[in-house]
Amino acid sequence: LSDRLSGILDKITGRGALSESDVEEALREVRRALLEADVALEVVKTFTDKVREKAVGAEIVKSVKPGQMVVKIVHDAMVETLGGGEASALNLRASPPVAILMVGLQGSGKTTTTAKIAKRLTEREKRRVLMASLDTRRPAAQEQLAILGRQVHVDTLPIVPGQQPVEIAKRAMSEARKGGYDVVMLDTAGRLSIDEELLAEAAAVRDIVKPNETLLVADALTGQDAVVLARNFDEKIGVSGIVLTRIDGDGRGGAALSMRQVTGKPIKLMGTGEKLDGLEDFHPERIAGRILGMGDVVSLVEKAALNIDQEKAKKIAERMKKGAFDLDDLSDQLKQLQKLGGMGGVMNMLPGMGKIKKQVEGMDLDNKLLKRQMAIISSMTPYERRNPKVMDAKRKKRVAAGSGTKVEEINRLLKMHIQMAGMMKQMGQGKGLFGKMMGKG
Ligand code: GDP
Ligand code: MG
Repeated sequence: LSDRLSGILDKITGRGALSESDVEEALREVRRALLEADVALEVVKTFTDKVREKAVGAEIVKSVKPGQMVVKIVHDAMVETLGGGEASALNLRASPPVAILMVGLQGSGKTTTTAKIAKRLTEREKRRVLMASLDTRRPAAQEQLAILGRQVHVDTLPIVPGQQPVEIAKRAMSEARKGGYDVVMLDTAGRLSIDEELLAEAAAVRDIVKPNETLLVADALTGQDAVVLARNFDEKIGVSGIVLTRIDGDGRGGAALSMRQVTGKPIKLMGTGEKLDGLEDFHPERIAGRILGMGDVVSLVEKAALNIDQEKAKKIAERMKKGAFDLDDLSDQLKQLQKLGGMGGVMNMLPGMGKIKKQVEGMDLDNKLLKRQMAIISSMTPYERRNPKVMDAKRKKRVAAGSGTKVEEINRLLKMHIQMAGMMKQMGQGKGLFGKMMGKG
């Protein structure tokens, strides 16, 4: 909300723009940080190209150095690339049993993550989950899942020695159907590196079970290989989402950016420990801060921007308290409104403003109207703007001619100003949401 509010009160005004050389210089640092975080080389290049485009010409917040401004822009772009605020919950919308296929390299955390997800679906979403291990290569892999199943109180498919992955998958689905399970989690075998046999096996299973989700499980410590890994799994098997494990480790998590940018597939979850409750929704902000390793700079820029907003808010609040809201102030507000897509849009963004909206007549303004109103105000003399009461018939006629409007429109504007001034005074005295928020500044 504070973002929106600051936008309404005033926009950070021009304090110079980022030049190409500002951006280039800062991007050198950023590039180094990305490589240190193990972001794949090709991803570093595409990503910095994208940022360069955004950054050159961008406005610099007061008391912030150009380089710091670039880092903030980089950070925001990274959060966006990593998924921003988009919801990426597991997709279970299908008639049960819904299959979730877990794929990835050996040791990436597939089996552990299978149990973690099963636990979460059982406890939080009250789903009946059946887990099955298709890992017939590693001795005791199937037992490993059965043990985890007991720990999290989730059923596992009974082990039939000698059965092959596709057979096990078929059996899991039919047992789930018979047993009334909602979700079947299929844990697959991994290899130390990508090989065709492994991928073909997983693809065969996929064709049988038609999974709703195919989750690529990858270690956050995966470095330059992340690109090859993600591309291969996505091309050969088709990945619907990524789970990043060992986020609790030392890795800076560059693999997240690499895999996300290369596949475009959402990172849905992250593993935060060996324990079976170590599973969290993916937080782009957290990972972006870690990848960049420049968290301090980001918060510095955010704070500087906030300070400027607070200065402005304070000034406006002071004027409001005095009940001094003249037509110049109204004109300023109208300009802001125009930027924000009209009064209706602003009111809708602020919780609790609906009531005020109804109280004030003529608030249903569109942009065309805003423009006409601003034209009216700018056709007035400074004296008239500060003292709207002096507007008599003769003055109104002159302003109407000057602004290409009609006297009735001027009357409506003046009436609206009186209503708004009253409203502003009320809010300035700390009544209502607006007043409270501004009082703090
Ligand atoms: P798989 O070969 O892909 O099935 O990998 P496993 O699930 O057997 O996990 C390999 C090792 O990684 C085990 O010791 C797990 O406890 C550990 N592990 C898995 N996920 C995480 C995680 O998010 N954080 C940490 N610290 N360890 C993990
Ligand atoms: Mg395993």
